[in-house]
Amino acid sequence: MAAIEAAAPHTEVQLFEKSNKLLSKVRISGGGRCNVLHHCPHSSELLKAYPRGGRSLKKAFGKFAYAEAREWFESRGLELKVESDGRVFPSSDDSASVIKILEREAHHRKVQIHLGMELRSIYPQDGAYRIEFRDGANLIFDKLILAFGGQPKLRGLQALSSLDIDFELPVPSLFTFNVKNPELHALKGLSVPNAEVQIPGTKARQSGPLLITHWGFSGPAVLKLSAWEARSLAALNYQFPILINWTGCSENEIRTTLQETFARHPQRSLGNAKCFNLATRLWQFLLQNAGIAIDKPCAELSKKSFNRLVEQLFRAPYAVEGKSTFKDEFVTAGGVKRSNLHLDRYEFKKYPGLYAIGEMIDVDAITGGYNFQHAWTSGFLAGQHARS
Ligand SMILES: Cc1cc2nc3c(=O)[nH]c(=O)nc-3n(C[C@H](O)[C@H](O)[C@H](O)COP(=O)(O)OP(=O)(O)OC[C@H]3O[C@@H](n4cnc5c(N)ncnc54)[C@H](O)[C@@H]3O)c2cc1C
Repeated sequence: MAAIEAAAPHTEVQLFEKSNKLLSKVRISGGGRCNVLHHCPHSSELLKAYPRGGRSLKKAFGKFAYAEAREWFESRGLELKVESDGRVFPSSDDSASVIKILEREAHHRKVQIHLGMELRSIYPQDGAYRIEFRDGANLIFDKLILAFGGQPKLRGLQALSSLDIDFELPVPSLFTFNVKNPELHALKGLSVPNAEVQIPGTKARQSGPLLITHWGFSGPAVLKLSAWEARSLAALNYQFPILINWTGCSENEIRTTLQETFARHPQRSLGNAKCFNLATRLWQFLLQNAGIAIDKPCAELSKKSFNRLVEQLFRAPYAVEGKSTFKDEFVTAGGVKRSNLHLDRYEFKKYPGLYAIGEMIDVDAITGGYNFQHAWTSGFLAGQHARS
């Protein structure tokens, strides 16, 4: 995106990629379908999806956000569709369609592409930038746009070490929670549409679909929590307690629903008296955790057991012991500090003509197409500014 936007009739643009393929991440993204954007016509709403970035992206999204990015792709022939949860994919359900558009446009704009060229160092030199490659080659450019992607370790940004730049320590974001509990693992594949996951003693809580896996918990509620708490959970070495509300209801609503259901079916066994549309296996698992026999009739439930069941439904405690990578999408929080940059054009404040875009800067989002949105936005703005 940046190379395409930087290209103009009398401007030579060269793109250096260390691997032997362009756009590898686009290819594997969204399970091979590429969740290219998130339907979000109001940029004030868009800002809310970026745990690192947020309001500091206001100017950038004021210039190039969802509508502009969508128009950019569609006007070049990419057909897009919006799914019910707002995620935008190519109508072909194939990331290759996105790659094709970008490669065709780069070709059309005469961007010179060099594969297998790893940039190792950058040196400011007489108002320009000398770059040194892994093979020892040196080149000088008037302007330089850096797009290294997310680097799990700061040494991935070593090429910038000769520059006076501040970094935020990288930590992973968008991960799932490991919970050692064989009975829970036996429920793998079950999900609830609207759970709330919270970290007790903090304000950290997220709601949404929750999925039980063979290692613990996944699904949007967990991924959102992992994104918003990426730093605090790294500091806890991914060992922390969580409380789960399986119902999406308040404690009072839970009590009322249970009382009404049990009063309507006094002779029914508790194991068959499930509420809140929970799967029977999950309901019975929660009864078991509350120490309640599933064959006991509803009418015989003691007050103490009733309260324990409410606890299981409203704030069931689990111990998270480690994290796993989410299979479809993961990103790095941290990298080049946003304060280094003019965020309306992604140019370094101390180095005119030098830009950093995409995931290598301390901007990342929850899942849903927002990470690519920022990649397109920052690439577009840096490219356009570099061309001017
Ligand atoms: C499996 C997976 C699926 C994802 N799916 C989605 C999705 O569906 N929707 C979404 O919004 N986000 C998704 N993401 C996140 C998204 O892919 C990234 O946020 C986005 O690709 C960042 O773009 P970027 O250009 O900053 O970095 P990248 O796409 O990572 O590109 C950086 C490029 O720079 C090259 N490079 C690095 N260092 C050097 C160097 N020193 N010299 C030369 N070249 C170098 C790399 O080889 C790479 O090609 C996914 C991430 C993963 C891992």
